[in-house]
Amino acid sequence: MPKADPFTQRRLLDLAAVDRSVGTARHRRTTLPELAEIAAGEQALAGLRNAVITAETEVGDLDRDGRKLDAEIETVRARADRDAARLSSGAGSPKELENLQHEITSLARRQGVLEDDALELMERRETADEVLAGATREFDAATASLDAARARRDAVFAEVDAELETLAAQRSEVAAPLPADVLALYEKVHATGRTAAAELTGDTCGACKLGLDRVEVGRLRSAPADEVARCPECGAILIRA
Ligand SMILES: [Zn+2]
Repeated sequence: MPKADPFTQRRLLDLAAVDRSVGTARHRRTTLPELAEIAAGEQALAGLRNAVITAETEVGDLDRDGRKLDAEIETVRARADRDAARLSSGAGSPKELENLQHEITSLARRQGVLEDDALELMERRETADEVLAGATREFDAATASLDAARARRDAVFAEVDAELETLAAQRSEVAAPLPADVLALYEKVHATGRTAAAELTGDTCGACKLGLDRVEVGRLRSAPADEVARCPECGAILIRA
């Protein structure tokens, strides 16, 4: 067991306090509510992005259908105009003129059907535009709140990192005067993730909070003051008052 005077041993309590603060800061970094919010937000955003793409595809499809329909209407109209011009010129046999008249009637009917289709398409296009606008609004809102959550996370990260930097400097300062063997023992216990040094208060270990056996406590209390004692339960270095 390494030896150190009581004053030096008490320094281990300062070191443990710094390590407790480091633990708290790290815990804050990993349990930040924004982390869950960001993960959920990213997932939601992926779904909303798909909804926007689906809506854009629908608008694109209807656009294409509309152009096709317009071209078809234009073709029918041009043909009807040409037929009407030929009919009014009166050129051709009566049979030909009669056929022409039939064709004009049937083209007019066809044009009526196409124009009804165009009207229906226009209504579907309006609906698709509304769906796209809604999906885009939702996507933009989700993006904004995700960005805000990321900004909040980054602000806390920066704060925590600065704190950790300060604590690292404090730790070096507190640890510097400690004898190498005492520090090595402390670090060994600390590496297990447990509290590495604590005060013995009454018969209770300040690290594991367990009440120690009375005989054990008596032995610890009567040991030389410069003997570095350890909790038999958790292994923490026990600092006696
Ligand atoms: Zn203990």
